[in-house]
Amino acid sequence: MKKYASELEMDYMRIREENAREAARRIGAAGERDPEIARLAKARGTRLRQTVRLILSEMGKPEEMNRSMDISAKLAAEFEAIGKELKLRLVSAGLPKDYLDPIYTCDICRDTGKIGFPNSAQCECAKRMVANKLLRDGGMGLVESETFAAFDRSVFADDPPTDGRGKSQREHMDWVRAGCERYADNFPNNAKPNMLFSGESGLGKTFLLNCIGNRLRERAIPSLRITSYDLLDQLRQNHIGGDRRAALEHLYETPLLMIDDLGSESIFENLSIPGLFQIVNERTSTGKHLIVSTNLTRTQFEARYTERISSRLFDTETGAVILFYGKDVRLRRRSAAQNNT
Ligand SMILES: [Zn+2]
Repeated sequence: MKKYASELEMDYMRIREENAREAARRIGAAGERDPEIARLAKARGTRLRQTVRLILSEMGKPEEMNRSMDISAKLAAEFEAIGKELKLRLVSAGLPKDYLDPIYTCDICRDTGKIGFPNSAQCECAKRMVANKLLRDGGMGLVESETFAAFDRSVFADDPPTDGRGKSQREHMDWVRAGCERYADNFPNNAKPNMLFSGESGLGKTFLLNCIGNRLRERAIPSLRITSYDLLDQLRQNHIGGDRRAALEHLYETPLLMIDDLGSESIFENLSIPGLFQIVNERTSTGKHLIVSTNLTRTQFEARYTERISSRLFDTETGAVILFYGKDVRLRRRSAAQNNT
């Protein structure tokens, strides 16, 4: 993912440096047992550098190809002979014969993060690193200050219900908060692994997602909160070619995926229903936890994201549908502030 490209580059540089340091340390240690080993290792290194220099210099000089091919064949033969001698000496010195072989943390990409040429793809190890970064980042914007402890019930209206509901908005939110906290504390042993938060903006849905994510973080359980906008962006980036499943591994593998505000993205952005379905389907059918918040009603949701996605998310066998209603908290705060002046 682009977001982490330069960070990844630095990580691999660090890995290569660490391994080079370890290789140098080994040469020193082996050289103490047998100085000839250090000399041979140095000679082998010189042949390697000469070969690389030769390859670089002959690029674009086809007329010198024959000459340089002779040189590189000679270097390769010397390299191999030195290597054989080195292995014999290592074994006599009581060390493993591959003790001075190049050290790679990942043998597949040799610590470059890339495989294949010229169309290089991301190595599995790089994909894992990106996924870990996403988890480390708490899922792109888990707001740390939004916790159950910071949950302020007074922001919700406590007017007696007038619309036939049994509770005021504040009482209702007490109940929702308690349910969310139970969910986070029992995670992953929840009777219903999924939740759907349905209701208009400004009613506390995102706040509660952050509460759940932060509680899980306290319990050392990774989670991922992603806005629908970012999710669709990732789906689109990985829409054509490549292994989409692998590139989006973090969305499948995180113990809890929270898709925030599904339905808020512009309808024209809404390009990847199959991608969304794949994620929702795989997570729900393998019992992986998923929470979705949306400002759409079920009918609107179905019209937009298909019946297949809707039926999984609104399935009350595996999930709890939680309705958010009442007055917009942000508007209420604003009018309270105005009344105080
Ligand atoms: Zn690799």
